[in-house]
Amino acid sequence: MRWLGDSTPGERLAEYAGRLCYMSQHNPVNRTTADYLDNIKKQGHGSVLEHSVYVLLIEGISRSCSHELVRHRAGFGYSQISQRYVDESHAAFVVPPAILGDAKLEADWEHQVAEAQAAYVRAVEGLMERYAWVSDKVHRRKMAREAARSVLPNATEVKIVVSGNARAWRTTLELRCGEGAELEIRRMAIACLRALQREAPALFSDFEIYVADDKQEAARVTYHKV
Ligand SMILES: Cc1cc2nc3c(=O)[nH]c(=O)nc-3n(C[C@H](O)[C@H](O)[C@H](O)COP(=O)(O)OP(=O)(O)OC[C@H]3O[C@@H](n4cnc5c(N)ncnc54)[C@H](O)[C@@H]3O)c2cc1C
Repeated sequence: MRWLGDSTPGERLAEYAGRLCYMSQHNPVNRTTADYLDNIKKQGHGSVLEHSVYVLLIEGISRSCSHELVRHRAGFGYSQISQRYVDESHAAFVVPPAILGDAKLEADWEHQVAEAQAAYVRAVEGLMERYAWVSDKVHRRKMAREAARSVLPNATEVKIVVSGNARAWRTTLELRCGEGAELEIRRMAIACLRALQREAPALFSDFEIYVADDKQEAARVTYHKV
């Protein structure tokens, strides 16, 4: 391979895979990795981008946001915190962006989630007593938590490890950074986009972040998903 220009390992892997198809490793037209991958995106050779996988730990998003995220199946792997095993008595809650900044709405919301969390704690205690006869304590706690979680709000914070290939990320970011996306997942997608643009500019630099009419950030892509 004759590499030209700055590049990161994921970008090089995609270029390597693309060049293998035509055995053009000698780089006959002196393209930098960024130029080469720009042309790949323009031509719509999305399969070349599938070799480069980016793994993000996403925290501080709500359960409803992660539910929307995991709908993106092709090219993604997920591992999310388990509400059956993990105690949610001290869980954090994510304020919806539309509520942020309005003192009255925020206060009402905080009151509502605090009530829900108190109900969760009461339910766990009650269920632990009800199933006191279950000798395996781990199993008993799981029984209690998996039932008690039903009263937790959608706003409950989750942590999730998301592995996705560059093609899959591009497709998802195009949908979730768009103005039609729900505000929280849009905010999350913009944060992911910024991380991926830092890590692999040649794979994600054709996304442009801007402030939309609703005063929130959105992003548009030059090379539409393929
Ligand atoms: C603004 C917005 C609003 C939404 N609102 C709703 C809603 O109200 N209700 C709701 O249920 N969902 C909603 N969704 C989720 C949406 O329906 C999709 O589930 C989500 O965007 C993932 O898209 P996808 O299936 O194309 O992605 P992926 O699963 O990642 O698939 C990517 C592409 O791979 C191909 N593919 C994947 N799986 C298959 C398959 N089994 N067979 C054939 N081809 C396949 C398709 O070409 C697909 O487009 C919304 C999404 C957005 C962005």
